[in-house]
Amino acid sequence: SFTNGSTAGKTLTVATEPTFPPFEFQSATGELQGFDIDLMNAIAQSAGFKVKYKNIPFDGMIPALQVQTVDAAVAAMAITAQRVKTISFSRPYFKSGVAIATRTDNQNITNLDSLKNKIIGVQIGTTGALKAKSLPGSEVRTFNDSPLTLQALLNGSVDAVLNDRVVILYGIKSGNLKGLKVVGSLLTEEFYGIPTPKGSPNLDLINQGLATVLKNGSYTKIYQKWFGT
Ligand code: GLN
Repeated sequence: SFTNGSTAGKTLTVATEPTFPPFEFQSATGELQGFDIDLMNAIAQSAGFKVKYKNIPFDGMIPALQVQTVDAAVAAMAITAQRVKTISFSRPYFKSGVAIATRTDNQNITNLDSLKNKIIGVQIGTTGALKAKSLPGSEVRTFNDSPLTLQALLNGSVDAVLNDRVVILYGIKSGNLKGLKVVGSLLTEEFYGIPTPKGSPNLDLINQGLATVLKNGSYTKIYQKWFGT
């Protein structure tokens, strides 16, 4: 029966890991915010569904999608050949890449080759971790989130950190971490997508919403808000 013209749609449970500014993080009062959050909200509004966010460690996100305890995730997650074996992705929504961070006073680490025999800090389950593990003769230390990797770099327990360039730069700037810098060029080219369980009927809905926000100017507004100068 008609419910008074209401088209209030379904609610999707969307996983995120809010320690990854400026994509997803919490305000001082604990409110979820960031580029991904604004984008997901805009997509939901366009496509006519509601979102219930669920905080999940980045490492646990793909398993949660596989067993369908969540309907989707928005977590600056790169679309990789490995991941598409177990989950599906929306069309890409952001171009990114892994960079090297080191301490400002470190003159030895300048590029990928100089990471040989160095201790590299990474965030568990990320493309940065994968890259670090592929380097011969380096020791990789794994941390649960991105802020912990930068903390370890600051206190000298690792020599370098590999993580998404934008996130390192934002972390340095927002945390006023004067002792850290980004060096060298990007080590990967990656594109973020919104993952869902394989074959999810919601993927079309998400892609439609994404197409709309890319077309109607919402994406540009959100981009300007977080990355505009
Ligand atoms: N972009 C990286 C990846 O896909 C890191 C994402 C994250 O830590 N939220 O692995």
